[in-house]
Amino acid sequence: MKIPQWQRDGLPYTWMPYMQMQTAPIPVPVVRTNGVRLILDDGRELIDGTSSWWTACHGYNHPHILEAVNKQLYKMPHVMFGGIQHPPALLLAQRLAKLLPGDLNHVFFTDSGSVAVEVALKMAVQYWLNLGETGRTKFVCFKNAYHGDTTGAMSVCDPLDSMHSHFKGFLLKQFPSSIPHTDAQFVEFQRFLYEHKQELAGVIIEPLVQGAGGMKFHTAESVARIRQACDAMNLLMIADEVATGFGRTGTMFACEQAEIVPDIICIGKALTGGTLGMAATIATGKVFDAFLSNDPQRALMHGPTYMANPLACAAANATLDLFETEPRIQQSLAMEMYFKETLQHCKELPGVVDVRQKGAIGVIQVESLHSLARLNGEFVESGIWVRPFNDIIYLTPPLCMSQGDLQTLCEKLVNVITKWSKT
Ligand code: PLP
Repeated sequence: MKIPQWQRDGLPYTWMPYMQMQTAPIPVPVVRTNGVRLILDDGRELIDGTSSWWTACHGYNHPHILEAVNKQLYKMPHVMFGGIQHPPALLLAQRLAKLLPGDLNHVFFTDSGSVAVEVALKMAVQYWLNLGETGRTKFVCFKNAYHGDTTGAMSVCDPLDSMHSHFKGFLLKQFPSSIPHTDAQFVEFQRFLYEHKQELAGVIIEPLVQGAGGMKFHTAESVARIRQACDAMNLLMIADEVATGFGRTGTMFACEQAEIVPDIICIGKALTGGTLGMAATIATGKVFDAFLSNDPQRALMHGPTYMANPLACAAANATLDLFETEPRIQQSLAMEMYFKETLQHCKELPGVVDVRQKGAIGVIQVESLHSLARLNGEFVESGIWVRPFNDIIYLTPPLCMSQGDLQTLCEKLVNVITKWSKT
């Protein structure tokens, strides 16, 4: 691929995420997006199989979102949220509270999923402090979990297998556990909670799907029983739905499938439909009320500079409009059926360990992602954008993708993997 001049000029000054800058191939030069396509500098188009890290649920440049952001841009692109409120944020908070299960009614806006997780952890720790219980500062988290790249969030990721394992000595010590499935495992899990109860603030989980930690799925029943265990031990349950929220698993939020209400939920990614960085941490009345006092020290001491950015709020409100008017949940469920039909063929290929799907998430797990650079190059050459990691090749396309584009995406994916698996 020809390297455009703008990329040649800027490349030496840019430090890319998760990338070995000495050896990695030059990133793909994208100059425009449109619908479900990325448009390259040389005019070629790639069908996007990633939704830009789970964000662009309605596709790119959706006219309804662009119009909302554009209108807000001329009114007020930004204003601080400290001591000030504005209509797009207050409307969004009300709408999120209505949309979320149970009484998750108290919305704290942040600017990224990692920070939403930091705020959730901090909320949970301070909840206990405000109730006069000191020492409850730790969390039970899970093997294969991924909650973000800031230090608090890193501490609740899988301590061994996550990309944060180098930082072991630097991170807070938490209590990692396996996600329990069987009755015996639940008994063990409850014993584990009981043993550490005095030190624990809560349990943090990505419900149904553990994303960046390996696209592992667990059942709604496990999530429901973890909620019960938290209740039995009087621990807060934090659901990190930064990735799973907004229809990706076939319901608006994954917690709905387990019919549970967590004490705190984190959302982000698709919240603005892939337009602007925004996330939120939302608490139930029980958690919120523990912060109410005449004592200013009992307030939540957190406030990202760009929290509740009006442009991001406008994009999020427009995103929610589209969830009301477009059949996104049905599209997510239909995608699950389609992945089941088309991707399962890959199970027969050499080196393929597992093929699984949940909502609009399709996963092909392999023994090893050998010659990854070549594989990535072949995806691009064939006209699709897919970004494998660890031992996983996965699809999380925009939920709105047409049947024709989905068919092309899956066919090309299967063709490339078939050739690659035989080398
Ligand atoms: N939590 C989960 C479950 C995620 O998948 C991610 C990102 O992939 C995060 C938190 C962190 O979000 P962000 O990258 O916006 O900081």
